[in-house]
Amino acid sequence: MARLIDQFQRLPGIGPRTAQRLALHLLNQPEDQVQQFADALLAARSQVGQCQSCFHLSADPLCEICSKPERNNGLICVVADSRDLLALERTREFKGRYHVLGGLISPMDGIGPELLHIKPLIERIAKDGITEVILALTPSVEGDTTSLYLARLIKPFCPVSRIAYGLPMGSELEYADEVTLSRALEGRRPMD
Ligand code: ZN
Repeated sequence: MARLIDQFQRLPGIGPRTAQRLALHLLNQPEDQVQQFADALLAARSQVGQCQSCFHLSADPLCEICSKPERNNGLICVVADSRDLLALERTREFKGRYHVLGGLISPMDGIGPELLHIKPLIERIAKDGITEVILALTPSVEGDTTSLYLARLIKPFCPVSRIAYGLPMGSELEYADEVTLSRALEGRRPMD
């Protein structure tokens, strides 16, 4: 019981009381139900990898978004991780493609550009006939550093803009509501 509670508590956003409630709930379920839950966890972990093109989570070589022919190929929105991608998808505002960096440049944490999916991004931009790259990175020191770094690399190929409007400094993209995020996308500003 303590082991199970401990495991739940390791999940993001789960405190000791919620962990206890989840553990008790599971223990009250029929055994086959718990088995299905355990199977789903293991299957997800072993089958879900990264999209070869945009690095979003995907069980197939190309993710759901990259394999949709109706999305605009000329527009790439750059995000730090898949959670931010999903937050932007919820707005239904963006019809282009994405690129997931896998984090932000943070010298304090020892995260340099070489640890992020920056090289494949530049390769995509160089060959795919991209008309605009939108940087959708959090307004923070790391987000600013990464945006400036990327803008310098991308500008020789195409215009770069950054979402701004309505997002307070240091706010997490994934917690912004849909209206705020839609406005942030619409109000993007070219980077110079
Ligand atoms: Zn993809």
